[in-house]
Amino acid sequence: MMVNLNKEEVEKKIEELRDEIREHEYKYFVLDEPKISDAEFDELMRELLDLEEQFPELITEDSPTQRVGGEVLDEFEKVEHSTDLLSLDNTFNNNELRDFDSRIQKKIPGENYEYVVEHKIDGLSAVVRYEDGVFKLGATRGNGEIGENITENMRTIRTLPLKIRDKSPLELRGEIYLSKSEFERINKQRLENEESPFANPRNAAAGSVRQLDTKIASERKLSILIYDLISHGEKNFKTHLEVFSYLKDLNFKVNWHKKADNIEEVIKICDNWEEKREELDFEIDGLVVKINDLDQRERLGSTARSPRWAAAYKFPAQKKTSKIKDIEISVGRTGALTPTAVLEPVELAGSVVSRATLHNEDEIKRKDIRIGDTVLVQKAGDVIPEVIKVIEDERDGTEEEFEMPQHCPVCGSRVIRPEGEAVTRCTNIRCPAQRRERILHFVSRDAMNIDGIGPALIDQLLENKLIEDYADLYFLKKDHLVDLERMGEKSSQNVIGAVEKSKEREFFRVIYALGIRHVGIGAARTLVKYYNSIEEIMEAEAEELVEIDEIGPVIADSITGFFDEIHNRDLISRLRQAGVRLKKERKENVEFLKDTKFVFTGSLNDFTRSEVKDIVEKAGGRAVSSVSSKTDYLVVGDNPGSKYDKAMELGIEILDEEGFKNLIKTKGDK
Ligand code: AMP
Ligand code: ZN
Repeated sequence: MMVNLNKEEVEKKIEELRDEIREHEYKYFVLDEPKISDAEFDELMRELLDLEEQFPELITEDSPTQRVGGEVLDEFEKVEHSTDLLSLDNTFNNNELRDFDSRIQKKIPGENYEYVVEHKIDGLSAVVRYEDGVFKLGATRGNGEIGENITENMRTIRTLPLKIRDKSPLELRGEIYLSKSEFERINKQRLENEESPFANPRNAAAGSVRQLDTKIASERKLSILIYDLISHGEKNFKTHLEVFSYLKDLNFKVNWHKKADNIEEVIKICDNWEEKREELDFEIDGLVVKINDLDQRERLGSTARSPRWAAAYKFPAQKKTSKIKDIEISVGRTGALTPTAVLEPVELAGSVVSRATLHNEDEIKRKDIRIGDTVLVQKAGDVIPEVIKVIEDERDGTEEEFEMPQHCPVCGSRVIRPEGEAVTRCTNIRCPAQRRERILHFVSRDAMNIDGIGPALIDQLLENKLIEDYADLYFLKKDHLVDLERMGEKSSQNVIGAVEKSKEREFFRVIYALGIRHVGIGAARTLVKYYNSIEEIMEAEAEELVEIDEIGPVIADSITGFFDEIHNRDLISRLRQAGVRLKKERKENVEFLKDTKFVFTGSLNDFTRSEVKDIVEKAGGRAVSSVSSKTDYLVVGDNPGSKYDKAMELGIEILDEEGFKNLIKTKGDK
């Protein structure tokens, strides 16, 4: 059908189609005012896809067809932010807002100033960068200094334009989130697939953004609201409101905002939204108050953590009544029995709450909580929901008092509650509940970070007797996995790969992963400072351990107790056999590139990207993806990209492959 169009005509046609689609995307997703039907929109897309299929050389990264995802990434690259992304100071009531205001008055005495109040969207912060009018980079906040490159996933966000008419370099900050309705849709689907639902929209959004499979990210309809300009290549704006209206003109979806002339007006706006928040189709956990004038912002400056010109106002914890249907006992990794109230579901602070922790036996007694009671439940932001008190007036006499069981609900072994402790524990070290939780802990992110092994797989592995403890993970074969439910060839391979990779985890993470009671990530780091290997730790006596400042008698006893246990010693020897790192890396090599930042461009002959990245990171350095004034070295391979010019411009030291080899050799030898 297109045969008689020449290439130029096709090119023109493609551009027209793209512009038309962009316009409709904007009307539909940003303005929420579609001008054509879904079918008509799909038809335009199909036409464009057809043409691009016939002329693949005409596909560009800003084409609307590039939003659908499909690429599967190995990992997210690190991105160094151009400026640190700060957090916000919190205020929790009107007086704290007034204090914030007085601090500003003191800093800019005698000046007039205005505020802008915005929604504090409960999502995750992201940076977007445009060059030449094209969306080039999306990154998470990370630790504020270094984030992750999530460009491919952000490309799927329909409210984010892939192309804008402003050609200057532009960097913005906003919040990625999921609407309440999309969150519900995803959870419903997860339940149908027998996957565990997300606790709240923010977790769901975070999980979606960190999907390596861009197709999955694209199916979750993420949105982004823009709320700050980080930099613009040439324009100097005077106020935040000016920025907002400019960005709106560029077709960005900008955050709701309202000007306030003084702090009392701010307070009124905050009060008002506390009730109205329910009407929004996305979660807000408060409001953000910002100084409008950008020059005043500059002069107010910031502390290491947060700007002085802005503050978050957090809504108070929400409380609602519900009824306790039952009290269940769960058994944790250390055998602790935790009572949990099963509630009639209520919506609280953006999540549907159907369980609340009761902590322990004493708490239940103190609050006199009975099964069947109507209770007041509280939840604030991230925290686990809690039962605050019983509404005694609601009792009708049918309520039942709760007794802590004498036996573990999972394995039936006797439980004990040591004198002076609040916690009741299962005494069986082989208790399946503990076993499951210990394995979950072992694979968790801060521990061995074994991707792809979650609760569902662990349950299957235990049920099928493929593993009994975490050391067994290292002896799994692909053949063991492929026949399990929802596994298949590819995911089995991925799991095996992730297990393999975890053998290289740092020693302190391995110690943390072991699941020794009271040994958190901090204590694990401390131990590694004083001991070089697992053998040294195993030999240490409690008296010796308490000599270390950060290690008290409780931790010390727990450590020696752990290694006295024969099963645990056996675990260690199997981990050793598997090749898991059980000692510190050679000190002299460890940190010779400490805090040195590298950027690589072009292809190297003797290394792949991930190899050089490994070398640099093992030596304490960092490999980042873009050149900035903080970069120490640019390593240039064949066919370098624009990073080369940028590095020249900034006067950054440039190395070729040989130079890089020399650097790691000479420095490493010292
Ligand atoms: P917190 O995490 O409580 O320190 O609050 C800071 C976070 O609030 C930032 O990192 C942003 O992700 C988020 N945030 C949400 N909405 C806004 C907004 N309108 N302005 C600035 N930050 C916001
Ligand atoms: Zn048990």
